[in-house]
Amino acid sequence: MVYAILVCHAEMNAIMNKNSADVKGCTIYVALFPCNECAKLIIQSGIRKVVYASDKHASKKSTIASKRLLEMAGVECCQYEPKRRQVVIDFDVIDRSGLSQLPDSPPRQSPVPGPQPEPADCADSVRRNLSALMVEQAGDQGL
Ligand SMILES: [Zn+2]
Repeated sequence: MVYAILVCHAEMNAIMNKNSADVKGCTIYVALFPCNECAKLIIQSGIRKVVYASDKHASKKSTIASKRLLEMAGVECCQYEPKRRQVVIDFDVIDRSGLSQLPDSPPRQSPVPGPQPEPADCADSVRRNLSALMVEQAGDQGL
């Protein structure tokens, strides 16, 4: 299996691309119980707890080794037990109910003669919408 040596596991990706200085004392949430290579990274990074959804590879040597490594390092491991078996995301409900997470668009203005403003690029549009959203949220909090 060539893919096995070419891919970067999710645990490595999460640890290497974290949004903090380090992950010492943190908990990592994973879909599958980490393999032995990821267990080494988890231990070396200082993560203290692993929460996993599935242990379907429990009989594999890599998983057995992983459990032994994590146990020896004192990393707590526990299986996530969801209260619901599934979550359904219905993207059509947004169109049907008229719900939107974006602020209302400003009313269209009729074209005015004279020089027209430069069309805003996408980043400007996102910045304006974000500013409007932040103002709305600040208003909601009475700020
Ligand atoms: Zn792995």
